[in-house]
Amino acid sequence: MQIDGRCHCGGVNFTAQIDPARVMVCHCADCQVLSGAPFRAVAIAPYDTLVLRGQTKSYVKVADSGNRRAQVFCPECGTPLFATAPENPTSVVIRLGCVAQRAALAPAAQIWQHSALPWLDNLRSVPGSPAQQAFLPLPSSPA
Ligand SMILES: [Zn+2]
Ligand SMILES: [Zn+2]
Repeated sequence: MQIDGRCHCGGVNFTAQIDPARVMVCHCADCQVLSGAPFRAVAIAPYDTLVLRGQTKSYVKVADSGNRRAQVFCPECGTPLFATAPENPTSVVIRLGCVAQRAALAPAAQIWQHSALPWLDNLRSVPGSPAQQAFLPLPSSPA
């Protein structure tokens, strides 16, 4: 399936061919920190299908195993774009948040669930608000 994506500022955009059956959620601690979110959702594409336009920057993450992964992001707005092997990449793990078709790409698997945040299962029961009014105004805030 052809997808396209872009960073928040629009300085970087891309297209790639992903397998929708390989969309995953990762609950590992590195994904929590690097994404700034409770978990990260990703789609996997063969490296040679990635067409990338714009300037990117990489941060190479070194795992305890010694495995090195380049975390590629927009140097202007910081949007995480994808991860790949720093040398001779064969695949790219695209961050679902910057993919235009993300609403249609439901995850098929979850990994690293032992480090999943314990409150995720209860998220559906947390009071919601269609906009951000849930926090405006705080009931106890001074006038
Ligand atoms: Zn950007
Ligand atoms: Zn992860």
